[in-house]
Amino acid sequence: MNYDFDTIVIGGGPAGSSAAIRTRWIRTYNSIPASVAIFDENGIGGIANWKELRITGESWKVKGSQLMEKMKKDIENLHIPVYKEEVINIRKKNDFFIINTNKREYCSLSIVIATGLSLIKNHKEFLGKGLIPTLKDHEYMKNYLSKTLKKDKGKNFLIIGTKPVKKFYNLFQKVNRDSVKTILLIENKKTRIVSFVKSKKELNGVKIKTRSDSKQYEFQTIKTDKVILDFESYMLENNSTYFLSNKFKKKGFVTVNNSLSTSESGLFAAGDVIGPPFCVAKAIGDGIKAGFEAYKYTFIKKFGIEPPMYAFYPSKSEIYDKKTGYCIDIITDNHKPKLLDPNIDIQISKKLLDGKHTIKQILKKNSIDSKTLQKILISLTNEKRITFHI
Ligand SMILES: Cc1cc2nc3c(=O)[nH]c(=O)nc-3n(C[C@H](O)[C@H](O)[C@H](O)COP(=O)(O)OP(=O)(O)OC[C@H]3O[C@@H](n4cnc5c(N)ncnc54)[C@H](O)[C@@H]3O)c2cc1C
Repeated sequence: MNYDFDTIVIGGGPAGSSAAIRTRWIRTYNSIPASVAIFDENGIGGIANWKELRITGESWKVKGSQLMEKMKKDIENLHIPVYKEEVINIRKKNDFFIINTNKREYCSLSIVIATGLSLIKNHKEFLGKGLIPTLKDHEYMKNYLSKTLKKDKGKNFLIIGTKPVKKFYNLFQKVNRDSVKTILLIENKKTRIVSFVKSKKELNGVKIKTRSDSKQYEFQTIKTDKVILDFESYMLENNSTYFLSNKFKKKGFVTVNNSLSTSESGLFAAGDVIGPPFCVAKAIGDGIKAGFEAYKYTFIKKFGIEPPMYAFYPSKSEIYDKKTGYCIDIITDNHKPKLLDPNIDIQISKKLLDGKHTIKQILKKNSIDSKTLQKILISLTNEKRITFHI
């Protein structure tokens, strides 16, 4: 079966970005990188992009956008494609995962799920401009609301969250005492928020999509003056894994073992999507681990042995060719080279290095002898510009 990528990463926040970078950036000198792509409808950033982040405490603060710029740079330098598409389904067929996005179908050997807590396109734009997230606990919100609701008398409020939002809604109504009009919107598998809508720079509604029984989406805009997004409810029940079978999750959080693997081999998860604590350093750490584990898994699938990953993992197997010292010699004529760096001049047609033509087929289509081709492939592998599909 032809496949598109060794690893597909779903989500481009700190967890997904670091997972993708580490599946490609295996530093050991004779390792072969993996082909990897990131899928995130919102591009790279995640909620880490919102504001200032404290990494361990008050003395170590970093702007989320700055942190994510660094990740973006590595993603660009490593030629990792970013598809601005939303993943809506995953299934496994034999050794391969098939993912469906809102645009098309893709196939990979492994997957890292890093979808965080919620997916609303333009959160950041409306913070403090009509959007009020419950970023502090409900007791704080009670005091905050009793001060601010008087100002908003007569306005329309939309309260959004997952099922546990009902607790906040009850608290809100107690404080409110009918001074503002309120609608409660509970996100679930069928009803999800797409984006906030504005009129003349002011938030004035929320676009939602609802999936009917025929699996078609219907879009609708709910008018409102203000939105309260109950983060606490998302931390109790996650709605970002609607595309994943219930057997892999509890309260929407993906269940993983110590290697960040789910019960399905080749399916990994990292970051907020696997549960608390919800913080950026843990998301990055998870991403690195899940990325390495996905890399290890695909390498074993492709070449039947563990990859060299010094100094991150001890080497369990002797895979080096005694003459050359490179693991390239385990590549057979049936392997399919895939170029990871499109900006390079080489003697053979780049089109053939697509992960779909075998080495044998490339030899047939080019007037090149096998020794020269092997030399080209070895040097591209050493420069981490190529991988091999099975
Ligand atoms: C206001 C605020 C302040 C914070 N302050 C701190 C702090 O001071 N210190 C700290 O350590 N942490 C802080 N955090 C938490 C930190 O930002 C998160 O823990 C971290 O961003 C989690 O990273 P992640 O990659 O797991 O998820 P996210 O950053 O949430 O990224 C998930 C990505 O997945 C994408 N996605 C979701 N579903 C799909 C799908 N179906 N298909 C494709 N893509 C999808 C989303 O678009 C999103 O980009 C803060 C968070 C917020 C909101």
